[in-house]
Amino acid sequence: MNILVTGGCGFIGSAVVRHIIENTTHSVVNLDKLTYAGNPESLADVADSDRYAFEHADICDRDALTAIMERHAPDAVLHLAAESHVDRSIDGPGDFIETNLVGTYRLLEAARQHFAGLDTEAQSRFRFVHVSTDEVYGDLEGTDDLFTEDTAYAPSSPYSATKAGSDHLARAWGRTFGLPVLVTNCSNNYGPRQFPEKLIPHMILNALDGKPLPVYGDGQQIRDWLFVDDHARALVRVLEQGVVGETYNIGGWNEKANLAVVHTLCDLLEELRPDKPAGVAAYRDLVTFVKDRPGHDVRYAIDASKIHRELDWKPEETFETGMRKTVEWYLGNEAWWSRVLSGDYRLGRLGSGEKV
Ligand code: NAD
Repeated sequence: MNILVTGGCGFIGSAVVRHIIENTTHSVVNLDKLTYAGNPESLADVADSDRYAFEHADICDRDALTAIMERHAPDAVLHLAAESHVDRSIDGPGDFIETNLVGTYRLLEAARQHFAGLDTEAQSRFRFVHVSTDEVYGDLEGTDDLFTEDTAYAPSSPYSATKAGSDHLARAWGRTFGLPVLVTNCSNNYGPRQFPEKLIPHMILNALDGKPLPVYGDGQQIRDWLFVDDHARALVRVLEQGVVGETYNIGGWNEKANLAVVHTLCDLLEELRPDKPAGVAAYRDLVTFVKDRPGHDVRYAIDASKIHRELDWKPEETFETGMRKTVEWYLGNEAWWSRVLSGDYRLGRLGSGEKV
């Protein structure tokens, strides 16, 4: 298959591209706008593959999408491009409306046009996998329930509201126009190469620098955590074996309170980097509680039994093994994150067709 991956320079997208190039025979066309969250350096390991191509484009750009579909004639689309950071969506929702809603609409239209031009055999194989989040389901505060594929949508933040809207658009293009759409909703991802504004890398890098570890509210918000490579495997499994029209929840069976996550990181750093910054007696001492995020959901929890049962997928990493791999990666890859922190990763951005 020749797979058009959108957002392949992001955290999860780059894990997906690496997984496809390293572990399958499929080819990848990576379409990415290279926003602040896109980092071509995350693809350094696979960018020289002759099964990899890059297109520098915006999913809101109708003409660019049409040209890319014509140039590459993909057999499938794996749609990850999005504005993804909840705090940014509260400070400025506009980009989220543009990319997550308008961009998804444009991509669905470009895929529909491309699909209409395929012969029957190619149409029967074509897939559009729309990648989304468990945040569309809202808040499970005060219950022991889990999100299933049938849970009603109740998004709380501008981010999750735009993702919810994009899920509805994707399903509508399936139902109304016959585009072979599948939707996935996944819990919080963590792992190597995550942009340092997100909880886990932010905490690791602050701790290494002896800076405070800011925890929202009382830190008792519960999230389900999944190692990013497990998510990448799940997405390719859904693409290859999922049933058109179906939704698959993806999760790690790892419900953890945010404070417990931060404490786990501190304990791993005590073991792996005992040589602490000046003035720091214990990494846990750096934890400081800050004003909670407005509208902050208290608990998310995913029931991932359908994808396990029907597609034989389950996570390979436990929370303990995945967190250890993550901390070890940040300790061993200062060159990657120091260029992100300094902003140098944005220098020398690429044009279409250029290798990263
Ligand atoms: P990310 O912010 O790290 O990466 C997003 C990528 O999309 C970047 O490379 C960026 O340059 C690109 N992009 C943004 N706007 C674009 C546009 N208009 N046109 C083309 N490219 C554009 O995000 P992520 O954490 O890797 O998340 C990827 C997807 O997975 C998103 O759809 C997100 O909603 C979903 N998701 C994320 C998580 C998580 O925990 N991070 C969990 C579940 C689902």
